[in-house]
Amino acid sequence: MKIAIPHALLYYYYFPLWDTLFRELGFEVVDTGITNKDILDKGSKAAVSDICAPIKIFTGHVIEGLEKADYVFVPRFARIKKPEYFCPKFMGLPDIIEGTVEGSSGRIISPIIHEKNNEDISSPKIYGILTEIFGFSHRELRLALKKAEEVFLRFKSLLHSGLTCDKALESYRTQRWEEDLKRVKKDGEVTIAVLGYVYDVYDSFISMDVIKKLEAMNVNIKTFEMVPTDIAYENLRHYRKRLFWTFSNRVLGAGLFYLKDPEVDGLIHVTAFGCGPDAIVGRFLQYESDIAGKPFTTLRVDEHTGEGHMITRLEAFVDMLKRKKWARVSHGI
Ligand code: SF4
Repeated sequence: MKIAIPHALLYYYYFPLWDTLFRELGFEVVDTGITNKDILDKGSKAAVSDICAPIKIFTGHVIEGLEKADYVFVPRFARIKKPEYFCPKFMGLPDIIEGTVEGSSGRIISPIIHEKNNEDISSPKIYGILTEIFGFSHRELRLALKKAEEVFLRFKSLLHSGLTCDKALESYRTQRWEEDLKRVKKDGEVTIAVLGYVYDVYDSFISMDVIKKLEAMNVNIKTFEMVPTDIAYENLRHYRKRLFWTFSNRVLGAGLFYLKDPEVDGLIHVTAFGCGPDAIVGRFLQYESDIAGKPFTTLRVDEHTGEGHMITRLEAFVDMLKRKKWARVSHGI
C-alpha cells in the first residue's frame, strides 16, 4: 500500500515522524518531491485564486500524490498547545482539499491533531484513524509511534544544534545524524536570523532558496526551529497576550530571542502573500527590531516573485550588515 506525504506545509518539520510511522506500519511512503512548476500550476489551477501560496502549493502536491499513491496524508492541524490554534487554513485543510481536488474523496487520510500540549504529535489517539481504516492493532500503532517519536526527537535535537531544516532532513534521509552536525555554518562574515514558517523558508519555489543564497553570500543562518519552544515562549512573556497561532508565536518568540543575541546582525522575515497571521507577526518583528536597533527587512514572496528582484534586495541587505559590522569592528565597538 502506498501513501504519499505532500512535500509542503509542515512536511518540513514533521516528515521524519510521519515517514517513520508509515514505514513501521508497512506502507510504502511516496514523497511528492520538491515543488516544481508543474506542481505549482496544478495547485494554482485547482485552488481558489485568493488563497495563500503555501496552500496552493500543498494542493498541487496532493494532486501529485494522488497520481503516485493509493492514499495521500492530509492531517487536520487544530492545536498542539493550549489555548493557541493553527491558522484556519490548517484546520480546514482536508475540507479545502476535498472541495477543490477531484478524486480526493475517500483517498485522503486525515487524522485530527487537537492536543493540549504535545508538539511531538506522537500520541496514539491522534492516529487511531489508521487502526479504523487499515485494521492495524493498537499495539502495532503504539510501537510504530514509539519509533517515530524517537526519530523525531533526534531530528529536533539536530535543529536545536543549529542545523537548518533542509540539512536536518537530509541527515534523516541519509541517517548521518552525528557527522552532519559539522555542517552548521559558523564562519560567515555576518549572521542573519531568517524568520518565517518552514514551508515559506524551505520551499525553494516560494522562497527561491533564500537560505542557500544567503549562505553563498557568506552569511551564517539562524532560524526559528533552532530555538527550543520553551525559550521562544519565555521571550514572549513581556506581552500581556500571546498571538492566537502556535507557529506565529514560535516565530515571534525566536525573533525576540535573536534580537538579544549579540551574534545576530540582522533579521529577515520571510512571508507569503495573502498570509493573515504574518501581517501581525511582521509588524511585531519590525517594531521590536526598531527598538533593539537591529536591521530588519521583509521578503514577501509568492509564486510570481521575480528572482532577480529578490537577489538584489538580499545583496543590498547583506552588504549593509557587513558595512555596519566592519564599522563597529574598526571603531572597537
Ligand atoms: S499561516 Fe499564513 S501562509 Fe500559513 S496557511 Fe495560514 S494564511 Fe497560509
